[in-house]
Amino acid sequence: MTSNARVVVIGAGLAGVTLARRLGELGTPALLVGDEEHRPYNRVLLAEVLAGRFGPEVTALPAPAALIRARVTGIDRAGRTVRCADGSVIAYGTLVLATGSNAVLPPLRGLFTPGRRLPEGVHAFRTMDDCLGLSKAVRPGVRAVVVGGGLLGVSAARALAVRGAQVVLAQQAERLMERQLDPAASALVRRHLEDLGVEVHTECRVRDVRSVGGAVRSVEMADGYALGADVVVLACGVRPRVGLARDAGLAVRTGVLVDDELRTGDPHIHAIGDCAEHAGRVYGLAAPALEQAGALAGLLAGDGTVARYTGTRSLTRLTLTGPDSPFDLAAFGETDPRPGDDVVQLADATRGTYRKVVVRDDRLVGGVLVGELGTVGALARAWEGAEPLPSDGGPLLHLLTNDGGS
Ligand SMILES: Cc1cc2nc3c(=O)[nH]c(=O)nc-3n(C[C@H](O)[C@H](O)[C@H](O)COP(=O)(O)OP(=O)(O)OC[C@H]3O[C@@H](n4cnc5c(N)ncnc54)[C@H](O)[C@@H]3O)c2cc1C
Repeated sequence: MTSNARVVVIGAGLAGVTLARRLGELGTPALLVGDEEHRPYNRVLLAEVLAGRFGPEVTALPAPAALIRARVTGIDRAGRTVRCADGSVIAYGTLVLATGSNAVLPPLRGLFTPGRRLPEGVHAFRTMDDCLGLSKAVRPGVRAVVVGGGLLGVSAARALAVRGAQVVLAQQAERLMERQLDPAASALVRRHLEDLGVEVHTECRVRDVRSVGGAVRSVEMADGYALGADVVVLACGVRPRVGLARDAGLAVRTGVLVDDELRTGDPHIHAIGDCAEHAGRVYGLAAPALEQAGALAGLLAGDGTVARYTGTRSLTRLTLTGPDSPFDLAAFGETDPRPGDDVVQLADATRGTYRKVVVRDDRLVGGVLVGELGTVGALARAWEGAEPLPSDGGPLLHLLTNDGGS
């Protein structure tokens, strides 16, 4: 098949679908090429599907009409075409890479069977297929080990516990979600998981995966301790999918390098979402992916609304819905103060709430809220605006405590 569609978008995830839809609205229809079997869906909701709270259909993204299922295997920049695994060739005027990330598979002994497959019961947690595979394996009483205690590992452990599994979470770092949270907030997340029955081990490195007959039986820690396991979830981070860009000779560091017009070194090729690296940052989060898609749509359709993309000040938000009340947290910017920073902190151990902001040179540089998110909007605005704060400190405390009447 040959197509002369002017804008071709590779990857039907959050970034690609949002871009294609927005371009359609602006009168510049794009052809979207995605390799997953499922209808485009919002990955952010997969933990809720695993927890049994949503059916898979709830995650569906409104896909544009021009969507084809194919895996792009190569880019011919001189001829301005892409080649697909099924042999088809698609011509482009402008190409957008929105290929997302892959789950990182950690270097564990025994992780692969002789056929280079993961043993039965071992799953990454990135795609709908991962989620449905895990969902099928989880029953009350099943022994599950989650490897990794970042946002993804915490979400997976909570979902599996809600489904009745006996969950052990093994985290190599000294605390949970160490990249987003300070120690006090991290301790509250740990308490929440433990209240759901999850056994949390920090500073704990998994070394081996043991299988019998191709199915996982246990994992072994660096200190030799073995844990029986029917299910293992690998939540060890993600890596941008940059193979196509690299093979085509585009500049790649961690992600595909793009400028303020989300353009690679080739003026006909752009990159957005998890696969893109802008101003030294690969975000790996939904809000920047959406913002980049919106900005690029404006640039490509020439609607004059967006001149440049200058980066996203993105909040990390997580809601851990348990059988009882939901447990909410939000974190942004730098939550660990540097010497000389001002810190305002409010903690209520009984209610399990915690609020903290970090101020540097009259500017809000970071904060973390756990259990009590009434002020998150006002704080986010103060952070995003990066305006100097009034110097007497009173308004800052007000920002932390005023929940806007809700
Ligand atoms: C379980 C889970 C929970 C998450 N929770 C949060 C959260 O709470 N908050 C948050 O901000 N972020 C969260 N994230 C991260 C968020 O989902 C991503 O940042 C977001 O999906 C990025 O969108 P994207 O379109 O760049 O990439 P993706 O959503 O990964 O989409 C890329 C698509 O491109 C396809 N593709 C790749 N290569 C090719 C090719 N060669 N040919 C054709 N198609 C190709 C892929 O198969 C995929 O469908 C979570 C992620 C997971 C997995």
